[in-house]
Amino acid sequence: MVRDIRPALVGRRIVSASLSHTDVLRGVTRPRLLRTLTGATVHDVTRRAKHGVIHLDQHRFILQPGMTGNLLIYDRPLAPEEARYAVLRARLDSGAEFVFRDIRRIGTLLLLDERGWRRYDDSLGPEPLDPGLTLERFVAGLRPSRAAIKKVLMDQRRLVGVGNIYANEALFCAGIDPSKPASRVGEAAWARLYQHTRRILQAAIDAEGTTFRDYRTGTGQPGNFQLELMVYEREGEPCRRCGTRLSGTHAIDARITVFCHRCQR
Ligand SMILES: [Zn+2]
Repeated sequence: MVRDIRPALVGRRIVSASLSHTDVLRGVTRPRLLRTLTGATVHDVTRRAKHGVIHLDQHRFILQPGMTGNLLIYDRPLAPEEARYAVLRARLDSGAEFVFRDIRRIGTLLLLDERGWRRYDDSLGPEPLDPGLTLERFVAGLRPSRAAIKKVLMDQRRLVGVGNIYANEALFCAGIDPSKPASRVGEAAWARLYQHTRRILQAAIDAEGTTFRDYRTGTGQPGNFQLELMVYEREGEPCRRCGTRLSGTHAIDARITVFCHRCQR
């Protein structure tokens, strides 16, 4: 999404902004957000963890789309059904409109000054696709915990970017039981987990995200990763590797975990 919206935003000035609901705001009020956005210039748009980060004059405007949110650019007036779920709308001096759209409003919006941003950035773990994240650093960050490997893999303070879908998929491909304590995962299994986590995230980015309910890319197209899912949303279906019926549980982290009890040890 960031890749798609960046060209239309960088160098542009926001001439007006509106917000339909305040339940998506974290640590900022509607008047302060709209006052900060209006008249501000967009200097850059980047991604950190699961957030789109819009660099403004004195602030970072941080958007976490969650599972159903989209960051979109329109160079035409919005159709009624597009405007209906537009939570934030920002008109640019180019005439285009930047829209945060979220049907279920699971996403969140944050506004931080530079110091607040640095503190927040420091609290997040390394990026899985950072070339500097070696197998050794990956293992050193995750292994010290006795919690279930799935929970540890999704802990954004230890490693960012791995949500429920990708955790399910990576643990299946690595052949690791999602409930196994991280501290008891063996050397060979860590190497497989490192490799598959990075491979799956890269494949998802290349395929423009996972099609899940209302997911759309920054240009409004559906993502197409769903075709390649091995376990997610396949509870009760045969394992693609061994044919065993896939199991589902909410016991690990209250989210759905789908796994093969034969392939994952
Ligand atoms: Zn299997």
